[in-house]
Amino acid sequence: MNDNPAFGAGLQPFMGIPSFMRLPVSRELKDVDVAVMGVPFDSGTSYRSGTRFGPRKIREASLMIWGHNTTLNVTPLKKLNVVDYGDVSVIPTSIEHTMDEITKTASKVIESGAKLITLGGDHSIALPLLRAHAKKYGPVSIVHIDAHIDTWEAEFDAVPYSHGTPFRYALQEGLVRKGGYVQIGIRGPVTSENDYADAKELGARTITIHEVMEKGVQEILKEVHERMKGPVYVSLDIDAADPAFAPGTGTPEVGGLTSYQMLQLVRGLHGLDLIGFDLVEVSPPFDHGDITAILASNIAFEYLSLLAIK
Ligand code: MN
Ligand code: MN
Repeated sequence: MNDNPAFGAGLQPFMGIPSFMRLPVSRELKDVDVAVMGVPFDSGTSYRSGTRFGPRKIREASLMIWGHNTTLNVTPLKKLNVVDYGDVSVIPTSIEHTMDEITKTASKVIESGAKLITLGGDHSIALPLLRAHAKKYGPVSIVHIDAHIDTWEAEFDAVPYSHGTPFRYALQEGLVRKGGYVQIGIRGPVTSENDYADAKELGARTITIHEVMEKGVQEILKEVHERMKGPVYVSLDIDAADPAFAPGTGTPEVGGLTSYQMLQLVRGLHGLDLIGFDLVEVSPPFDHGDITAILASNIAFEYLSLLAIK
């Protein structure tokens, strides 16, 4: 296996068809260790949309990843058989239909024994992904990196699902191991003084950006490792990063993590039983110079590297 399929094909990053890291596009799951899947869906957004273009743009940005992770000293594509599984068939006007389709497709992949890396899409896709993973593993521990708590009640009357509600329903549906849910990077104005208390009551350990900056990433990681038991699912909203590093997103909040801190956080999850990952809320129409997509593709690569050194 080549370090980077791009070179195997004799192609430079700007040539050819952009699958994730120029991996083979395949729905054949036999002997596949990891499948990268896109969910181009943004009808769960409450403000600026555009994340339906996220998976494609992240794939394009990933062509610049040369293959060897110098910090973790691993070449993931040498250790793992990885494919680009393509996209889930979404219907932009039906969140319910799309959520069912996500659960179905994700289940098919993980029941085969492959691990899933999902590129969003808005954060509403995390709930159907968690349903699929909990079906296979039972209640999972969750590391949720985000500016927002996403445990709100229905933002829009009578419509329960949006990108602001996935973790409320995940908790209520019993998809989460008791005591096994942390959210990191939380900040920004909210609608009421009770929002964080509500999250806590539902079962979240909310680590605000203030706490991250006061204690430092390593200290936060210590607590994460103490709390995360059993199978761990990681859900990463790119708006956890400061808009200076990730402007291409729908609901930016100032005062966030640097791109280096994002990588550090993901890298620091080494040692946990990592069973699934989604990276959401990259909205290319609001991006500048593709910096958000470049960060996102490198975070996905960092997670892939962790699976390779396991
Ligand atoms: Mn967010
Ligand atoms: Mn979110």
